[in-house]
Amino acid sequence: MIKLLRIVKSIIIFGVLTLFTQIGGLIYLLLKPIAGFITRNIQHRRKKQSTKLAFYFAGYLLIIGLLVPPIAKKFGREPLPVFGHQQIQPLNVWTCLLNRHYVRSTLRQTMVQVAKQLNQAHPGTVIAYMDANFPFKKGYPLWPHLSHSDGKKIDIAFLYQDPKTGQKLSRTARTLFGYASYETPKPHEYNIARECKKQGFRQYNLLGKLYPEWLKKRRKLDLARTRTMVQLFAQHPQTQVLYIEPYLKQRWRVFYPKIRFHGCHSIRHDDHIHLGIW
Ligand SMILES: [Zn+2]
Repeated sequence: MIKLLRIVKSIIIFGVLTLFTQIGGLIYLLLKPIAGFITRNIQHRRKKQSTKLAFYFAGYLLIIGLLVPPIAKKFGREPLPVFGHQQIQPLNVWTCLLNRHYVRSTLRQTMVQVAKQLNQAHPGTVIAYMDANFPFKKGYPLWPHLSHSDGKKIDIAFLYQDPKTGQKLSRTARTLFGYASYETPKPHEYNIARECKKQGFRQYNLLGKLYPEWLKKRRKLDLARTRTMVQLFAQHPQTQVLYIEPYLKQRWRVFYPKIRFHGCHSIRHDDHIHLGIW
């Protein structure tokens, strides 16, 4: 019975890690016998568990930091900058720890070029990226974003300022990962979120309902910088499509044909930009 429970536990851990990190489950299975071996003489249960956990975490970090990037590169994807790049950084470093920051080199180049142009207009601006793609396999979706499966898609956070002082801020949003950090349609603006809900697409607004209001940080959208960033991406020849909510396209007056509505089957896009390249 205890053995069966152990197998079920391993399957659950494998499943969750695979869902969120693609290769975490595999790394777990790889390290499992070694973890068992190096802790075989530890009698104290708690100490044994914590030693195993520390080993798993260290092993995972080593593998995703040193082994995965060169192998992924052979299969056509590379990680976006984690540290050390002045103009492109993850909004939340957990995106990288979960291997969700891999892209094709053309997307990386597009990001670098736009970030450079953005900095000419607004010096010191950092493009903060959110979920991109996993390191391997075309067609393997980055859950829960089904379209992020080919290395050519990425979500990018809006830019913000301090609502009191107006100070320009970097790498921030109202929420931890940027999702559900919504702008709000004004009464006269086209409220697509309400329309989608009416049509029965309950997931469209779901994240906003789940994320506690009291946990949200006070941030004001930096219109000038966000608008320039959207314009630069929309003008870039490599860009295939940008998704933002239709009311923001009107409000920001960014009437580019590449900026489109993503459909009610998706989620709200007034908390981030979805960029897809050719
Ligand atoms: Zn997206």
